[in-house]
This record gives sequence, C-alpha cells and structure tokens, in this order.
Amino acid sequence: MATRVHLVNPSRTAFGTAVITPRWLYVLAGATPSSYGDPNLVDETLEQSAPGMFGPGDIVGIGIHTANALRGYEVGRAARARGARVVFGGIHASLYPDEAHERGGAHAVVTGDGEAVWPAVLRDCAAGTPERIYDGGKVRRDGFVPARWDLLPPDKYMWGSVQTVRGCPKHCSFCSVWRTDGQEPRTRSAEAVVREVVELRRRGFRFIALADDNFYPVTLNDLAMAGRRADSARFEALTAIREERFDLMRRLAQLPDDLVFFTQITMEAAEDAEFLAAMKRARIAGALVGVESVTPEGLKAIYKDFNLAGDALVERLQRFRAHGVHVLGSFIFGLPTDRDATFDATLDLAKRADLTFAQFVTLTPFPGTVDFAKWEASLAGREPRVLDVPVTRHWLIPYEHRPKLYTPHPTMTPEQIRARTQEVWDRFYSIREVWRRARCVRSLRARLAFVLISKLYRQMYANTGISTDSARTTRASRWARWLAKPCRRLFTARPLPDLAVPGAECELNPTQ
Ligand code: SF4
Repeated sequence: MATRVHLVNPSRTAFGTAVITPRWLYVLAGATPSSYGDPNLVDETLEQSAPGMFGPGDIVGIGIHTANALRGYEVGRAARARGARVVFGGIHASLYPDEAHERGGAHAVVTGDGEAVWPAVLRDCAAGTPERIYDGGKVRRDGFVPARWDLLPPDKYMWGSVQTVRGCPKHCSFCSVWRTDGQEPRTRSAEAVVREVVELRRRGFRFIALADDNFYPVTLNDLAMAGRRADSARFEALTAIREERFDLMRRLAQLPDDLVFFTQITMEAAEDAEFLAAMKRARIAGALVGVESVTPEGLKAIYKDFNLAGDALVERLQRFRAHGVHVLGSFIFGLPTDRDATFDATLDLAKRADLTFAQFVTLTPFPGTVDFAKWEASLAGREPRVLDVPVTRHWLIPYEHRPKLYTPHPTMTPEQIRARTQEVWDRFYSIREVWRRARCVRSLRARLAFVLISKLYRQMYANTGISTDSARTTRASRWARWLAKPCRRLFTARPLPDLAVPGAECELNPTQ
C-alpha cells in the first residue's frame, strides 16, 4: 500500500474557522514529492485530529512551536501507537530535538528549515530507516518552496499568507527569530511572491498576511552606518536588499486593487517616508509593530532601545497612520521596570498613537531567547516545579495548571500583572473605544465589520490566553467560533480564476 503523508499543525483550541492560513503546512506539502500523492493536511485550529486518521506505515509530520508543543506531543504519541512514522519539525523541535523523541514519540526530528531535507526524510521513513535528526539548516534565498494553495479547504480561512523575507537583523532579548532564522535577511524573489499572491486572489483571498519576520530588514540608519564605515561591500549588499523591497512593492501595486496586505515591521520604518509611501501604493494597509514598552528603561531591558518612548513614540506611530498604514501595536507587560502606573500609561499611549488594534502580552521567557537563557541560568538547580515539571520547561506543564507568569517581579505579584493586563485589554476593546476607532473606515457596513473583527481578535487572543478560569476560556472559544464565520465572509471576495500574473510571459515555470 502507498505511504500516506499527513502534516499536522497542533492546537488545543479549535475555532472551526481560522484567521491566517498556517503557511508551513502548504509549503511542506509543496516540498513533498508527487510520488507520495497529496499529503493530508490537518490544521487543528480548525478541527482536532483523531488518532484513527493515522495508519500503519503512514508518515506524520508535526510542526511545533513552544506554545503548541504539548498538544503536538500528544498527537505524535497517538500516531506512533497506530504504527505511523512520526517526524517533528518547527522552532521548538529545533531547540529541543531530544524532547520530541522522549515525549512526542518521534522517529525523527528536523531542525532548522524543513523544506530542503523533507524529501530525504520521507524517503528514509518510507524505507523504515529514519535518522534520529536531520539538519535542515537555513534555506537559501533561491530555495524557498511555493505553497500548495490548491490543497486549501474551501471556506475555512480569512487570510492567505505569503512569505517575502526570512531572518531579522535585530537582537531583541525576548525574541528567538534572530537566533533561529538568522540575522542575515533572506529575501524571496518578487516574481515568486507575486505568483503566490495571484494564486490566492484567484481563489477569492483578498486579505494576505506577508508572514515575514521583519518586512523592513534594512533601515536608513543601517545604510548610513555602512556608509560612514566606508564598508562598500556591506553598503552595496544592504542597498540591494532595499531595492528588492521596493521592486516587490512595485509589483504588488500592479495587482487588483481590492487586495489588502498586512505585515510585521520595526518602528524605524516610520522615519522612512519613501518606504511608507511605497507600502501604501502596494496596499500594505496594516503592520504589526512591536512597541513592547512605553518607557526608555523597559526598552533598554529588552535590548530594543532602537524604539522611542513617550511623546516621540506617539509621534512616530502616528506617522504610519498618516501614510495610510494601520498599526497593530504589540506591548509586553511584566518587565522588571514596569510599575503600577505603566498599565494606564500604555493604554493612554495606545489611544494617543492612533493604533487601530493592539495586543498586550505578558512577559514569558521563550526558549531560544536571551531572556530565557538568563532566566534558566539564574534558577539552575532550584527551579520551582508544577506537577513535578520544572518551570523552566513550562510548555510541558498541563495547560490548566500552567502559571500565567514565570519571572518574579520586583514590585508586583503575578496575579496583579495578569489582572491589570486583562483590564487593559478590556478597556482598549470596550465597545465605546472600538466604535471610536471604527471611524477609520467610511461606510456603516465597514464600521460594523470593524467592530466584529475587533471583538473576534479580542476573544481569540486575550480571553483564551490570559484568563484564569477555564470557564472563561471555554466561553471565549465558543464566542470566537461563533464570530469567526461571519468575519470570514467579510474578508473574502469573488474568486478571479483567470487573473493573470502581471508581466508574466509564461505561467508554467514559477521561479522561486
Ligand atoms: S522582535 Fe522583531 S525586531 Fe526584534 S528580533 Fe524579533 S523579529 Fe526582529
């Protein structure tokens, strides 16, 4: 019997409808040789997998990050018990390959980028001789694999996702991206990006997330510094990356004008009027900006002092809006420099800075980050335990017993930080505030859509993440499930099956 390949995106919460397509599933499907047939793609944010779907001899690839590792291990063990070959990949498996073997029933673990080694992994698994670990390394800029969007289930996702660059030159202490994806940006060709966008628009996707680590990998300051050092090779390399970004945005601007893009970007882009104007022409209408902290001390504590604080921060964030780019501001609470007044000050700043959306997360030491390494070292040999799991392995603690905060704070208790964070979410997303922000769109229909989407965002991310009681979490999931369906209809458009790739002479040989 032919070997069946399954790819599983684990999640303990299923909403029936999801916001963004989990791109990795469709990219790895693209890297699966046709001799295995089409892989079975299982996104547990839609519906959970059932062990009965895996059979003896099947190959089950499970991609995990720290937050969904525990559920991933459950799926891995269930698949192995059914006689399947289990392979783990993703950021968390790259950091803890032994854990995936011990806890997840792995036959093999892929570290780094998976797409290049995936055919070899499948070949070895099918032959019954998988290696313990495969090092996928970092895929080169000409090695990006286009996603198999033809495998998308109909009517399940609101947004498509396309990657344009991997890696980030910064080194924020709470973030693992620069360590796992590297600090050297690897840009994908504009041609390959545009082809994927066109394919998604043909299928009725109008909103597309540019799922990049940092869409603005070269700042004006980087160029000025390379210029001052008279480092011509560096200057030319940076200039080439910057030009590629502009080329991509020029190509995106030629696509149907109902397309809307969203990306992640550092705040420094606000000083680059030429870049912001190009974003607007390309209809990159929204960006997640990591503001993190509103105080200079807080920014210094997380190595993000390239951000501004206070009124200068407000002015800089407003500049995005002035150029037609809506900002989803991301803030962290629980930094050692935070005080009781920080919560109100953050909320006030989020309002003054014209943020369209905001998220408020609590400081969590994630593996692979500088913060985690420091925290782990500071507790060596005397880690508190929950159900006999050391807190430095917090992702292994059953969800319902997991503390909401791990690092002690000099002046506030974990419960104070959690409760104040929840309160900031409640106030930012009060119906009055949401309706006020809805003025950013014109028609009544669009305003109502804005309210619906704001509420959905809050239900999906705030209530399921930082609430203490499981009843509230269950209620929030139910609400999110209910809201997600009408929201999806607001985002999609009439399919355009005949849409051509602008400037393409031949559609048969997509370039990477
Ligand atoms: S938080 Fe953003 S800017 Fe900082 S290293 Fe991570 S991806 Fe880069």
